[in-house]
Amino acid sequence: MDCVFCKIVAGEIPSDILYQDEEVIAFRDINPIAPTHLLIVSKKHIPSVLHLTDAEAPLIGHMTKVANQLAREYGVAESGYRLVINCGKEGGQLVPHLHMHLLGGRVLKWG
Ligand code: 5GP
Ligand code: ZN
Repeated sequence: MDCVFCKIVAGEIPSDILYQDEEVIAFRDINPIAPTHLLIVSKKHIPSVLHLTDAEAPLIGHMTKVANQLAREYGVAESGYRLVINCGKEGGQLVPHLHMHLLGGRVLKWG
């Protein structure tokens, strides 16, 4: 499948893996918009949060838990951070494979 995140999961595209378990992998965004910009990516190819089945929905809780752990580990837990899941064209989703952004290290504007 021609999916950049599937290729990263498969190790076909290099990334600096910060965390992984059976369900998710986390690495730094290649084009960071904040000093800390990590991606928490499902290992399974799910095109977007809209495509989550009821059975897959707990994955979002797991991604959040991993993001919180990474926020502590990478020093933004106290200063504050933002977790973002973009969905679809107007939601700003560029890579059609479920992922969560962890953003921190500066004051984040809205809109
Ligand atoms: P989206 O806009 O889909 O929510 O976010 C996709 C993110 O993936 C973007 O912030 C983009 O910079 C990042 N990205 C795209 N391709 C790669 C890649 O090959 N490696 C890494 N580390 N990040 C990528
Ligand atoms: Zn994929």
